Amino acid sequence: MKLRFAADGIEVADGLFWLDATKPKALGVISHAHGDHSGRHETIVCTRETGAFHRQRSGHRGKYIELSFGEPWRVGDVEIVLWSAGHILGSAMVEMRGPEGTTLYTGDFRMSGGLTCPPAHPVPADALITEATFGVPQHRHPPADESRAELVQFARDCLDGGRTPIFMAYALGKGQEVLAALTQAGIPVAAHGSIWNLLRPYRDAGVRFPGGRRLSRNGSRQCAVIAPPRWADSAPVRGTGEVSVCAITGWGNMAQRPGIDKTIVLSDHADYDQLVQLVTAVAPKHVYTLHGYAKEFAEDLRQRGFNAEAVPGHSGPADGEIPGMFKPRGSGR
Ligand SMILES: [Zn+2]
Repeated sequence: MKLRFAADGIEVADGLFWLDATKPKALGVISHAHGDHSGRHETIVCTRETGAFHRQRSGHRGKYIELSFGEPWRVGDVEIVLWSAGHILGSAMVEMRGPEGTTLYTGDFRMSGGLTCPPAHPVPADALITEATFGVPQHRHPPADESRAELVQFARDCLDGGRTPIFMAYALGKGQEVLAALTQAGIPVAAHGSIWNLLRPYRDAGVRFPGGRRLSRNGSRQCAVIAPPRWADSAPVRGTGEVSVCAITGWGNMAQRPGIDKTIVLSDHADYDQLVQLVTAVAPKHVYTLHGYAKEFAEDLRQRGFNAEAVPGHSGPADGEIPGMFKPRGSGR
């Protein structure tokens, strides 16, 4: 399948359609609703949940073709099929079946899924285009249920000590994951509006947030608070009492910054082991790596006997997993 890796997305079959383009195109397949994967295209192919998030967050009024996982849709001589990516609710891997073979594009993915989205469902393909955010062996994440237990323990310890635990988690995906983990463990939680306002597709998918509520303008007392990092210093989030701030990131020790009292490793991206697991499951003849440790992961795969190459200009951090997202307070950035 003819691919062109452009600065703003991947062009397939000489412009027949685009994958995760950020600038408007005639036909764009969107793997998931994070801003660095989703443009305002004339016609968008995505899952129902991604469509709901995209419409709500962008106000876009284009045409949406919303597919279920496993449901084929044809354009030209290419058949597109979406499969669960396990990254955030609605996230999809994109299988493209053409005359020259099949290509699988992961978008962002996590093999295990989470409380708020099903596990990834990779399928065999001739070529694989994968993210490589954590593509070095130093990035192995603890099991997610251990991290969730740590979240709950931190919240309980803070509340017992008369302090408000503030969890920093970005608005779409991790915010809801933390909200589900805490509320399902019986912790009272107030979530910032940017997280709370996106709950409907989660509830439609059967995810429960028992006892969760929206953070009021006047703040909330005697409960845990979840807010995106950019709002972590705002008055309603911090309230008037003592607080303890917890950063939740896949980067672990990289988030130990001033103003952060605790780091818990919980990511919605595959860690190194899951990346290797994916490539093994897809068993491709050729692998393209993007984002994060793209070069290092391609080299690693070559040593494992795969024909792999990093896409030039596509290394560097992916959404929400940027080491610098947790800035020291007062840095003005
Ligand atoms: Zn993402």
